[in-house]
Amino acid sequence: MEIERIVLRHMKMDLLHPFTTAVGTEYDKDFILVEVKTKDGMTGWAESVAAIDATYKEETVKTNWHMMEDFLIPLLLKEPISHPDEVSELFSHVRGNYMAKAALEGAIWDAYAKQQGVSLASALGGTLEKIEVGVSIGIQDTVEELLALIEGHLQEGYKRIKVKIQPGWDLNILAEIRKHYPDIPLMADANTAYTLEDIDTLKAMDQFNLTMIEQPLGFDDIVDHAQLQAQMETPICLDESIHSVEDVRKAIQLGSCKIINIKIGRVGGLTESKKIHDLCEANGISVWCGGMLESGVGRAHNIAITSLSNFTLPGDTAASAHYWKEDIIDPEVIVEDGMITIPKLPGIGYEPNRDRIDKYTLSSRTFHL
Ligand code: MG
Repeated sequence: MEIERIVLRHMKMDLLHPFTTAVGTEYDKDFILVEVKTKDGMTGWAESVAAIDATYKEETVKTNWHMMEDFLIPLLLKEPISHPDEVSELFSHVRGNYMAKAALEGAIWDAYAKQQGVSLASALGGTLEKIEVGVSIGIQDTVEELLALIEGHLQEGYKRIKVKIQPGWDLNILAEIRKHYPDIPLMADANTAYTLEDIDTLKAMDQFNLTMIEQPLGFDDIVDHAQLQAQMETPICLDESIHSVEDVRKAIQLGSCKIINIKIGRVGGLTESKKIHDLCEANGISVWCGGMLESGVGRAHNIAITSLSNFTLPGDTAASAHYWKEDIIDPEVIVEDGMITIPKLPGIGYEPNRDRIDKYTLSSRTFHL
């Protein structure tokens, strides 16, 4: 595949509802949309999940733009590649910057799948035809508002509920949810809000029969998590502290978790996501795909990777209409009875809408061979 040009767009879209986690509230979403055009006329799309600030991980929209513009795109334009798996190798001497790498690699995967005439899911080796999805509910002002949202999502057919927690919004709300819904698949995402000093609070969560507790401790920790997992029945899921298949190998060896949240952007791309998926499958570790408030383009990539066989837990990939007034793809991502059907069309299987993309573009730059 020879790349003819790459277009970066700085996008800004308003969220339908503000989204609050232990690290802050988001009202809108800035991100970089990547379009790759190959010499044989294929167009691949992906987006970077880096946010405007560094509260989730250290990467931001601005650092991603810099890394793509000054380091990663020049590497890509240097010589043709024969398979997208080569991209992570090509980028390997650039340290870190996983989200920037993943966005470029993802667009190349989309173009590659289109060139092969297969869906991105098939190109990745995915076998599932439909995937179960859940929703992620941010921290609310009151328990009543939270319960009303949960009720609404269950009515819509979502298969599991994930709630964001933080000290003071944890045991109380989980108890309240379990009082009303004793049996629903329920998980809690702490986004690093606790330390081992909170061990009594964390162990008390065992009584709620949670599918998992996600990243209770430090954003770069796997050691304390191992200590916590040894004392908790609830499976710990790692999110923020996993960047590579190597990190997963170490986490498995230490016993830091029983579940891994695979976010394509956080681990540097689809090729690395597949490696993590395979290592987890071989070690009896379940995986699922977490969301980063993506537009439809990123959402389509999440759907494709979730078609791999060891994605046995519902992911965060809810319908477009859950997050956006209008999405930038046609058709929008639709959830029916808590399931998304994996598109069969070549590539990501959804068509980016150029008018709507233009409407939300703040600035852009085109790089030619
Ligand atoms: Mg998380």
